[in-house]
Amino acid sequence: MSRSITEAEAANELMRLAKAIAHHNRLYHADDAPEISDPEFDALVRRNAELEEQFPHLVREDSPSKVVGHEISASPLSKVTHEVRMMSLDNSFSDEEVEEFVARVRRFLALGDDEPLVMTAEDKIDGLSCSLRYEQGRLVMAATRGDGQVGENVTANVAHIADIPQMLRGNAPQIFEVRGEVYMAKEDFAALNAAQEAAGGKLFANPRNAAAGSLRQKDDSVTGSRKLRFWAHGWGAASELPGDTQMEVMQRIAEWGLPISPDLRLCASSAEMLQHYRTIQQRRAQLPYEIDGVVYKVDRLDWQKRLGFVAKAPRWAIAHKFPAEQAETVLEQIDIQVGRTGKLTPVGRLAPVLVGGVTVTNVTLHNRDEIARLGVRPGDRVVIQRAGDVIPQLVRNLTPDEDRAAFHFPDHCPECGSEAVAEEGEVDVRCTGGLICPAQRTERLKHFVSRAAMDIEGLGEKTIDQFFALGWLESPADIFRLKDREAEILSLDGWKEKSVENLLASIEAKREPDAARLLFGLGIRHVGAVTARDLLKAFHTLPTLRETAVRGDAQAELTSIDGIGPAVVEAVQDFFHEPHNVAVWEDILSQVSPPEYAVETTASAVSGKTVVFTGKLETMSRDEAKAQAERLGAKSAGSVSAKTDLVVAGPGAGSKLKKAAELGIEVIDEAAWAEIVAAAG
Ligand SMILES: [Zn+2]
Repeated sequence: MSRSITEAEAANELMRLAKAIAHHNRLYHADDAPEISDPEFDALVRRNAELEEQFPHLVREDSPSKVVGHEISASPLSKVTHEVRMMSLDNSFSDEEVEEFVARVRRFLALGDDEPLVMTAEDKIDGLSCSLRYEQGRLVMAATRGDGQVGENVTANVAHIADIPQMLRGNAPQIFEVRGEVYMAKEDFAALNAAQEAAGGKLFANPRNAAAGSLRQKDDSVTGSRKLRFWAHGWGAASELPGDTQMEVMQRIAEWGLPISPDLRLCASSAEMLQHYRTIQQRRAQLPYEIDGVVYKVDRLDWQKRLGFVAKAPRWAIAHKFPAEQAETVLEQIDIQVGRTGKLTPVGRLAPVLVGGVTVTNVTLHNRDEIARLGVRPGDRVVIQRAGDVIPQLVRNLTPDEDRAAFHFPDHCPECGSEAVAEEGEVDVRCTGGLICPAQRTERLKHFVSRAAMDIEGLGEKTIDQFFALGWLESPADIFRLKDREAEILSLDGWKEKSVENLLASIEAKREPDAARLLFGLGIRHVGAVTARDLLKAFHTLPTLRETAVRGDAQAELTSIDGIGPAVVEAVQDFFHEPHNVAVWEDILSQVSPPEYAVETTASAVSGKTVVFTGKLETMSRDEAKAQAERLGAKSAGSVSAKTDLVVAGPGAGSKLKKAAELGIEVIDEAAWAEIVAAAG
């Protein structure tokens, strides 16, 4: 476990994670063009789960843990609401976790020791989930999973998939929704990418992305030109079920003419399940399609019904993922990268090595302590690991005894030569160069224009590096002076009139930016996007924030703001005491004029009032209550004073309640508060 983090930092990070995960989800599912690898994505998801476990009251409304798959708003295909929600599966990575799953099911059903519990086992194919609705045996609707509730209509597209019959054979129920995966075989994937490459088209990262990109086409003739396959693994809405077990129904589905996993079988014990898993794992490389594990399901349907669901996954099924794959290679060198905050991050450059189907050439070594722990030096043979759930990591040094000097972690910044030090109690070594450090300056510019900050389109990392090298971007304000360099930009390689025009237009579009985004973009330490918003909710404009921060008595006023801790206050005050920063600040405010920060609220009985919560709240956390107050346009305060308009008191309210009575302030209970919230909608 790394250092402990504060609640405000956790809230910040959760917000960033929600955004990042939604963004990468969209790239992966909706655009079929992932920017990061699956393990990198999984690492974000895992980090989110870790923080949510640590801070359960900070779980967001839009938490990625509540969402299955992707949102489909950006898709040109029409939407379909699933009659029965499409679920996802919980994952397990070890024999123990599978055994625990079996034990959990037995406990839940209160099965006796000798009562048999049969599970089905089938390959977990890496495809795109799809629901096929048959009425009177005829295919009437095909839809993707989407977010689980609402998917996309791909009826015309699946008409091109030979595995999916338009009419079912034999006696199918009146209504039956078959669920399964549309996938692309390895061979067809290779052929498609070869053809794409020859035509100068987009290459797909893996068969799954290729299948998704091929199916989700507005013009279904494109789908027709791609080789897609399908297999069924379950069902959704059904007017009746043709069997009492998972296996029986799957066999009926096969008889109606839909492919199912050729390796679907029954297992009578966890030992049989694990044995089957190992057999499949050995055959995995030879299979004509990509699989990433085995899925187990309770066979008896009456038991499935009793077990039901937790959140977005059934209690009666689990995916058993294949484990991390390891490979040996040589650590050729260790480079040091300097980030926006000056942090020196060591990156291991590897002799390229194939791990789990992906070529790995770099691995992060995190920090100075991690290098010391691993004892690695350039030239060592090392073991690299890549699992379904983590980014590639260096796990072991195979040649610690070879005679080589230990890696010397730099004590000066490789970019600017300033001293690089670790603050007391911190593992990270940082460059102290601040604004004279080119690495920090370019990283700050990149942060400033990034999506969560000013969101300036068309000003990518390479462009910033290039403009910076030309001396055109000394500080963020210079971005808004680029319009004076139109001719110069046009004279650079790769720029055309249209692209210069677009760039300048997207910069001009940000002349009146959101004040919180601008503040976040300035990259003040500890001021993340959420904190920036909290500060602006309290001060409304950037000049007011600055005036307050530089006053001698600012400490108390700043720390009284919800979500603002001492670390933030110190960082904000430090920022304004540094003349460099003030110059940057004034310069940027000479270029842009953010409107007064508007707090989004719902009109309510308490709009504009100050509310104090005291005592124990029974149906909600204090944080939730405060968030409700904020949403209703009220300010929540920590103590009762003459400025207080309303006190919400639960059991155990003490001195605050007494004070409210003395001051004649209205006091209500939690139920009355809930009514005010409900009335506001
Ligand atoms: Zn530096």
